[in-house]
Amino acid sequence: MNGFATTLAALAINPIPMWSKQMDPRADAQDIESILSAIRSVSGDGTAGLHEPVFAGNERAYLVDCLDSGFVSSVGEYVTQFESELAKFTGASHVVAVTNGTNALHLSLVALGVKPGQEVLVPAISFVATANAVAHAGAVPHFVDVSTETWGLDPQAVRTYLSAIAVQRDGNLVNRETGRTISAIVPMHTLGHPVDMTGVIEVAQDFGLKVLEDAAESLGSYIGDIHTGLVGRLGVLSFNGNKTITTGGGGAILTHDAELAHRIKHLSTTAKSPHRFEFDHDEIGYNYRMPNINAALGVAQMEQLPGILANQRKLYRKYVQAFRTDHRVSMRGEQAGTLSNFWLQALLLDSQSQVSRNDVIEGALAQNITVRPLWKPLNTVAAHYSSPSAPTPVAQDLYERVVCLPSSVSLASK
Ligand SMILES: *Cc1c(COP(=O)(O)O)cnc(C)c1O
Repeated sequence: MNGFATTLAALAINPIPMWSKQMDPRADAQDIESILSAIRSVSGDGTAGLHEPVFAGNERAYLVDCLDSGFVSSVGEYVTQFESELAKFTGASHVVAVTNGTNALHLSLVALGVKPGQEVLVPAISFVATANAVAHAGAVPHFVDVSTETWGLDPQAVRTYLSAIAVQRDGNLVNRETGRTISAIVPMHTLGHPVDMTGVIEVAQDFGLKVLEDAAESLGSYIGDIHTGLVGRLGVLSFNGNKTITTGGGGAILTHDAELAHRIKHLSTTAKSPHRFEFDHDEIGYNYRMPNINAALGVAQMEQLPGILANQRKLYRKYVQAFRTDHRVSMRGEQAGTLSNFWLQALLLDSQSQVSRNDVIEGALAQNITVRPLWKPLNTVAAHYSSPSAPTPVAQDLYERVVCLPSSVSLASK
C-alpha cells in the first residue's frame, strides 16, 4: 500500500457492514408491533401523510387577490412582501425569492464563484438536490461523512480527510487524486437540526473553502440566536410542499452581503440590464425568480409560521412520550445551544436492535402509516455513484437505523 492508500484505509474507521444485523425471528413480530403501536398512538390511522401542508389562514384570500391584480408572474407586490417577511423573521439583511430550493442552491454556487470542473464538498446524507445543484453548476459533488450527533456534515472528519487527500497549490485546494480544485463546502441542516457551523466555518477558513448553507429544511431553526442559513455567507431555504411552510414550489436565498444579494437577484432575472424599454443582458442569467402567485401563498404561510413551529415541537414531545418506555429506540432530539424546527420527526433504532429499519417501514406502510427511511447516502445513488467520496461509515449507519415518522402539523392537535 502506498502512503495515500494507507491514509485512506486508516480513515475508514469502524466500517459498518451493510447487513450486519441478524434478526431473531422469535422476538420479531411482537417487537415490531410495539414500535408500530407507539407510532400509531401519535399518527392515528395514517390519514395524515408524512408532511402535509396546512392552509388555515389567509392563503385563499391572498391567492384570489393576486389573481384579481393580474400580476401572477415574476413581478408583483407579494414577492417583495414575502422577501421582507422572511428577512424580518430570519434576521437576514437581504432575501431573494426564487422558483425552488434546488435553483436557489445552483444560483448561490454560481454567485459564490464555484466554477465548472471544480469539486464541492457535500454531505453524503442529504436530499439529492444538494448534489444535483453542484452538478447543475458544472461542478462535481465530492461526498463527505456526517456526524453521529448532528446528522449533518462532520467538520472533524472533513478536516482529517482533506489533510489526507488534498494539497494547497497556487492558492487552491487541489484533490491529489483527481487534480481538480475543491472550492466550496455545502453543510446541510438535516431534518431541521442545525449542523455544527462553527466547526464547518473553521475547516472552511483553514482550507480556503467557500461556504453555502443548505437550510432548505431548517426555516425556524437557530444556532444560538442566529437563524440557520445566516451563519455562513449565504444560505438557502426551500418552500416545497413538504417543507415547514410552502409556496407550492419555491426557495429563497438569505445573506447579509448586499453585493452578493444584488448579483443573485440579477442572475435570477435573466441578468437584464435596467432600462426603460431595451432588452440587454450583461451575462447569461436564469429564469429563477419566484412568481407572485407563489409568493402570495408564502405571505399567508409566514403568518402561520410561529404556530406551525410550536406544533412541530409539540408533535416531537408526543413521540418522545409514546416511546418513553422503549429503550431500543430514541427520538431525534435537539442539540444543546440550538433550536430545531423539528421539520421531520425521526426515530433512531438502537444499534443492537433486533428489529430492522425495513421491518418498521414495511410494517407501517402495510397499516397505511406513511414513514420513510433517511435518504440513501448520495455516494450510493446511481446518479452520483461515480463522484468522488470520503469513507462514509456514519452516513451508512444512520441510513440503516433511521425511520422518519409522520410529521404533518395537524397531528400535534389530534
Ligand atoms: C427540499 C430540499 C432542497 C430543495 O428542494 P426544492 O424541492 O428544489 O425546493 C434542497 N436541499 C435539501 C436538503 C432539501 O431537503
